[in-house]
Amino acid sequence: MRKSLIRFPLALGLVLFSGWLAASPMTNLLGQLSQFDYQDYVGTLQDFGTRYFNTQGNVNATNYLAGTLGNFGMTVRQEAFNYGGYTRNNVEATLPGLVTPNQIFIIGAHFDSTSNAAATDAPGADDNASGTAAMLEIASVLSQYQFASTIRFIGFNAEEQGLIGSQAYAAAAKVRGDAIVGMLNLDMIAFSSGNTPGTLELIGDQSLLSQFIDATTAYVTGLPIIAYPEDKWGSDHYPFLKSQYQGSSALLAIEDYPWRQPGWNPTYHTTADSTNTPNYLDYGFGFKVTQASAATLADLAGLIPEPPVMLLLLSGLLLAARGRRGGVTRRLNEQTADDARRAQSGRWVSNESGTS
Ligand SMILES: [Zn+2]
Repeated sequence: MRKSLIRFPLALGLVLFSGWLAASPMTNLLGQLSQFDYQDYVGTLQDFGTRYFNTQGNVNATNYLAGTLGNFGMTVRQEAFNYGGYTRNNVEATLPGLVTPNQIFIIGAHFDSTSNAAATDAPGADDNASGTAAMLEIASVLSQYQFASTIRFIGFNAEEQGLIGSQAYAAAAKVRGDAIVGMLNLDMIAFSSGNTPGTLELIGDQSLLSQFIDATTAYVTGLPIIAYPEDKWGSDHYPFLKSQYQGSSALLAIEDYPWRQPGWNPTYHTTADSTNTPNYLDYGFGFKVTQASAATLADLAGLIPEPPVMLLLLSGLLLAARGRRGGVTRRLNEQTADDARRAQSGRWVSNESGTS
């Protein structure tokens, strides 16, 4: 049998196989996310007692976030701002992009909390341990992969005082000239509204809403989404909306918006926003939002297939190219030999034995 006849299916096989492998990193990535870990992060954050901006609990939570993100192997930076006579910090971990490192995507969640007894007791389980836990779980997995663009994982502080931390962050980023292309903000994503099936509401710039919905449709089952393409204040996405931050696109993922309408979390900003409240949090729902956010972010930032997959793909393509070139050369050589034989004997000579 001709070598080129073996080579072509082999090359095709390699290309197809590497294509299949290249398509599956997203599935692999999403498979690394753990609902158990997600739930664990919610509990740990609540255990600080209160994360109200001017308490020691807030400082402890800040240090916990910095330590946890650092343990994932990323460079962590605390960014200070002043508010109400206190110096407080946002926490930022960076995963540098390998192709377009100057393009930045952000996933953020505010980790401070409030309640009717904020100085001592503000568990903030849904608002917003639920979103902060998702950011941490996504960071733990995405930090083990490579992306074309840079991803920043951010815990925002003092959101409850009026988006103080995120506004300080966006202002400093503008001064630096950071090209923040997209920003996903998770705030209150795990409240269970009892018998009614949960829906995730998305608020923000239309283009990003569409990308979030596309990624969710492709990779997550059973997460109904209602999109509100609105330029709305109310959480940390606001300073990053197109209207506020040139070149950026932002969205807020929240459960049971609009605010204060039927279905809205009745324990909002109370001491009962706690995992100790019976049948309160729907971790399964919060975890689906975590998966959808991870898929969106990985899509946006450009997940790079792992080196072995790239190597397979390259060798398949190379083999195919060599096979083609070899085949053409061989055909030309054969033809020349045939012509010579024909000229010599005056009749057609089979050259089947002449090929290897
Ligand atoms: Zn909140």
